[in-house]
Amino acid sequence: MKVTKFGGSSLASAKQIKKVAAIIKQDSDRRFVVVSAPGKRDSEDTKVTDALISYYQKHRAGQDVSKEQDWICDRYQSICQDLELDPHVLADIKKDIKQLATLPTTDNPFLYDTFLAAGENNNAKLIAAYLRQEGLLAHYLHPKEAGLFVSGEPQNARLLPSSYDKIEELRNTKEILVIPGFFGVTKDGDVCTFSRGGSDITGSIIAAGVGAELYENFTDVDGIFVAHPGIIEQPQIIKELTYKEMRELAYAGFSVLHDEALIPAYRGKVPIVIKNTNNPDAPGTKIVLEHTKPENAVVGIAGDDQFVSIYLSKYLMNREVGFGRKVLQILEDLNIRWEHMPTGIDDLSLVLREKELTPIKEQEIISYLTQQLQVDELEIEHNLSIIMMVGENMRNLIGLTARATKALSEHDINLKMISQGTSEVSVIFIVKTEQEKDAIKALYETFYG
Ligand code: ASP
Repeated sequence: MKVTKFGGSSLASAKQIKKVAAIIKQDSDRRFVVVSAPGKRDSEDTKVTDALISYYQKHRAGQDVSKEQDWICDRYQSICQDLELDPHVLADIKKDIKQLATLPTTDNPFLYDTFLAAGENNNAKLIAAYLRQEGLLAHYLHPKEAGLFVSGEPQNARLLPSSYDKIEELRNTKEILVIPGFFGVTKDGDVCTFSRGGSDITGSIIAAGVGAELYENFTDVDGIFVAHPGIIEQPQIIKELTYKEMRELAYAGFSVLHDEALIPAYRGKVPIVIKNTNNPDAPGTKIVLEHTKPENAVVGIAGDDQFVSIYLSKYLMNREVGFGRKVLQILEDLNIRWEHMPTGIDDLSLVLREKELTPIKEQEIISYLTQQLQVDELEIEHNLSIIMMVGENMRNLIGLTARATKALSEHDINLKMISQGTSEVSVIFIVKTEQEKDAIKALYETFYG
């Protein structure tokens, strides 16, 4: 059996929902359908979830909410009418959307989450009704009935591990269960959402819980690209990717799947496939535990900007016991996360995300390192980018990094730092941001040209 999740763009209009129904009909193993709220119909449009946020804000401020209510109800109305659904379905949805405005705004920590979740919840009812109209045996299932119990951290829910026992019971369903994504319920029965984009997480949890053979995640691209299509014209699609490789690529901004969605499927050993609702016959990108076929050792090339490096050098640093700890202690005291730390004999660099370093924190670091740790040289460099070459099989091949650095040098790209862990899942090059795109193009040409 398969768990099949559809994202907001796959459910934005009646036309899209008809494609979704055709996909579900095509394969009787698709027994669990997880849905997002209706997304954007075009780039100018508003996602229903974002409209619910405006609605919440007005309600919170005690202002008139009728414009927001009407806009959201109209979105569902146009879908219901175009699908020629029984009028009761729309009446139910409208009632649910309107009653949100009756909820108390004080002493109600889950109010925002309840608004957010309404997009998915009503869409699941709508999709289940449409599937039934299309002759399928389908049933809407609230996360509470599915057993999706979560911790009570608003907009940052975590699944309670005990939930899996209840979810497992869904295995025997004879019907297609349509489950709204993005939220669970607390032990007290409050609606609590995952972070934004969290419907992917629901799909992954259900897939792991019922022990699905596959978790299909339908979106609006044919799969995950080897490199960003904004930089490389028509990049190749990655056919197969391991969870570890996906995690590395996601770190550098490949955002097809929610970060947290990998974990449940990974632990439950359920492979994931990213597919396109608008082109369902394309094979998509499969995310697996281990590669099953030989592929290009470099599976993906990612770049991310807004990094900063703190370079420091001190004569005989290597002999000074505890020096590294003292450097890291200052970051900890200032509540700064660090990302990478390439070292030399008498020097080390700390690479951080730009957002971690406010001007005040920067001054604090400079004075601590010069006065207390008495470093000989200190340099803070902004506007850096990381370029990641990702692939688990790279470790078995000789000369890949040589080919990469040769290509970078031929394009006059100055390598500021290189960082490679022993796992060799990725090799990271740090360059000036103005050279980021050229670096990605050079690497793509080398390994995929
Ligand atoms: N609708 C939610 C959001 O826009 C969750 C999702 O689509 O996955 O963040």
